[in-house]
Amino acid sequence: MPEKHNMPEGAIPCLDKGFVRLVDSMGGDEAIVQAARVSYGKGTSKVSQDRGLIRYLMRHRHTTPFEMVEFKFHAKMPIFVARQWVRHRTANINEYSLRYSEARDEFYYPDPEHIQFQSALNKQGRAGKVPKKLTDKVMKYFREISERSFEMYQELNDAGLAKELIRAILPVNLYTEWYWKNDLHNLLHFIGLRSDLHAQYEIRVYSDAMAESVKKVAPFAWEAYQDYVVDGMRFSRAEQNLLETRLPERVIDDIVEDVAYQITATLHNNKPRKDGELYELYQKQGGSDVESDFQLKWDSGEIELGNVRELKEFREKLTKMKK
Ligand SMILES: Cc1cc2nc3c(=O)[nH]c(=O)nc-3n(C[C@H](O)[C@H](O)[C@H](O)COP(=O)(O)OP(=O)(O)OC[C@H]3O[C@@H](n4cnc5c(N)ncnc54)[C@H](O)[C@@H]3O)c2cc1C
Repeated sequence: MPEKHNMPEGAIPCLDKGFVRLVDSMGGDEAIVQAARVSYGKGTSKVSQDRGLIRYLMRHRHTTPFEMVEFKFHAKMPIFVARQWVRHRTANINEYSLRYSEARDEFYYPDPEHIQFQSALNKQGRAGKVPKKLTDKVMKYFREISERSFEMYQELNDAGLAKELIRAILPVNLYTEWYWKNDLHNLLHFIGLRSDLHAQYEIRVYSDAMAESVKKVAPFAWEAYQDYVVDGMRFSRAEQNLLETRLPERVIDDIVEDVAYQITATLHNNKPRKDGELYELYQKQGGSDVESDFQLKWDSGEIELGNVRELKEFREKLTKMKK
């Protein structure tokens, strides 16, 4: 665990000596909605409608309203993690400079459980338990190289050599620090890539910590990002062709039928209808069950609610598949 004494207040510990701390944020879900309403015209702003609008924007990749929310983090991470992190070009960064300031004796030493073999399947991954003897050797080498290089650095620094040059003998497990500011759209993109299991464990830890701030500052946007981007699925043209030709029409019809029930139930939930109006409403949504079957299903209470607009979009996609 990280050394607590070096941890600023409110920081989330990361790796053995690092952290992420949300320094400041501007806006939240309400700022996304406020910006979006400029393009869609003014409307009412009930919380449920805000959520619906944010989900609509995310679904349709209308991304600029998400850029209205800003996050500023203070983070401390090993240089090899910063090296990956800095590839995310849309952020504003200011980093601790080893040209002006002395390096500190702070190196990343992995926990034994994270010392693994090179994965045979994934060129960018780890796999397999390493025998204790070899784990001990890895940890010893990490310590030896870090301590020895730092001694050399100090010796050259004491002799008055330029810091900007002698820093180059320090290994990339040395900790650095920075302030990193980005907007929500690009931060979600960062988290999407870096919290994914394909990303390196050491950067995932930071990405997961930053996700905690996003969840608090913009919970609807976070939820929508999970639903439509992280857990959503898109089909290529070839995949769609295959589905269109191989999926039996009756299966599509069954799903359309379920959607008709869900739309009806959701409309009824949003604005209650009289019992006598429900079957007609269901038929208008493309439902084809006879009235007695409709009544049986309706009375079962098993119909899930959803978002009317989203369900209609889904129905459109399903209908297109039948052509
Ligand atoms: C698992 C994993 C493995 C990786 N492996 C490698 C690797 O082997 N080698 C390697 O070099 N990198 C690697 N990367 C880094 C990767 O290629 C990207 O550089 C990094 O993820 C940043 O993504 P980005 O460019 O989308 O993000 P950002 O730089 O934050 O950009 C966000 C978006 O803005 C737009 N954008 C930003 N700048 C420009 C621009 N100049 N021109 C056009 N559009 C722009 C793009 O739409 C981009 O998606 C890896 C990343 C991951 C997550």
